[in-house]
Amino acid sequence: MKIAILSRAPQAYSTQRLRTAAAQRGHEVKVLNTLRFAIDLAGEAPDLAYRGRRLSDYDAILPRIGSSITYFGTAVVRQFEQMDVYTPNTSNGIANARDKLRATQILSRHGIALPPTAFVRNRADVRPAIESVGGAPVVIKLLEGTQGIGVILAPQVKVAEAIIETLHSTKQNVLIQKFISESRGRDIRALVVGDRVVAAMRRTAQGDEFRSNVHRGGSVEAVELDEEYQRTAVRAAQIMGLRVAGVDMLEGVDGPLVMEVNSSPGLQGIEAATKLDVAGAIIDHIANQVAFPEIDVRQRLAVSTGYGVAELLVHNGAGVVGQTLGEAGLWERDITVLTLHRGTTVIPNPRKHVILEGEDRLLCFGKLEEMRSMIPERRRRARVRKLPKEPIPKDIGADD
Ligand code: ADP
Ligand code: MG
Repeated sequence: MKIAILSRAPQAYSTQRLRTAAAQRGHEVKVLNTLRFAIDLAGEAPDLAYRGRRLSDYDAILPRIGSSITYFGTAVVRQFEQMDVYTPNTSNGIANARDKLRATQILSRHGIALPPTAFVRNRADVRPAIESVGGAPVVIKLLEGTQGIGVILAPQVKVAEAIIETLHSTKQNVLIQKFISESRGRDIRALVVGDRVVAAMRRTAQGDEFRSNVHRGGSVEAVELDEEYQRTAVRAAQIMGLRVAGVDMLEGVDGPLVMEVNSSPGLQGIEAATKLDVAGAIIDHIANQVAFPEIDVRQRLAVSTGYGVAELLVHNGAGVVGQTLGEAGLWERDITVLTLHRGTTVIPNPRKHVILEGEDRLLCFGKLEEMRSMIPERRRRARVRKLPKEPIPKDIGADD
């Protein structure tokens, strides 16, 4: 394949390793400076220029977008997506991962365990927010920090309030997060490629530092992750839309707590700690995807009018509980079951003799009209309400 690594640091360890791994496998590889692309929206087809000349055809890109150029970098990746060039990390995935609040909202919505976190803006809401995550000591995080910069441990509520107010006064938004003391300056970095953890390490902070980032002097050692940590890391990466990700987890008393999902994980620390060829695993995964691309079923199938994908929940006590999938009569209603989710297990292409249980979730493709009548009430609640009768006050700061 022909692959471009998008990076502004051609000499960096990670870039060098990825380039070498690709070349060793016989791929044609170029490192392209993300900031030297020009997005061309004039023609009929989406196009890109690089250093002033039309870009040649690529099969895949591997974006390594630094946090200082998220906006432009994700725009370039989006352009590649529109040109049907494969990217393991989508522009949406990168943008979502970069914003700690947005990432936390998405992950918590999908049932990933996270340290209790709050986000407020008004001064009056700061103290209750600190209390709601468990009081002092409390962790304060800038939304777009990396490498441990912008992560502060405030020992007392008063200090936390002062720090948050200062940051708010300079227009910086912060997350307020419970300090997970049992992790004692340690965390787990799992390197996810595709749907598996290819390498993992434990990072330990130096001295009395609580941040274990390698850039803050943290030391690293290889670890063998148990099932639960592996599953959590892979799910977190998948939910974020990232096929190459560094998932950071704290070791909480009840298991893994995901702190963040990094879309351009550094390879130096983890390759040194584990002696594993992570760069090679990344390149192999991309080459496989190029040879046999996965498509986003939801996006492609929804195009046929009236048809789409929906998740149906089998309610406890519903008539179909105890029936086989075949007996439930879905196929007769022009609905095909793609996967059956039961607790944490997933059964792809379930056979018609599988017996349904309460709380099963069926991912189905079919006539939306037919499926809508079977969708749980909670999902249908987005109704448009009537405006109130009282006079409506004038808009302040509206975008018009
Ligand atoms: P960054 O993006 O800057 O790496 P993180 O959210 O990953 O920010 O935090 C940096 C480090 O600080 C983590 O690797 C971890 O060691 C420590 N840390 C972060 N949040 C917590 C927390 N809630 N409790 C305990 N330690 C934390
Ligand atoms: Mg981190």
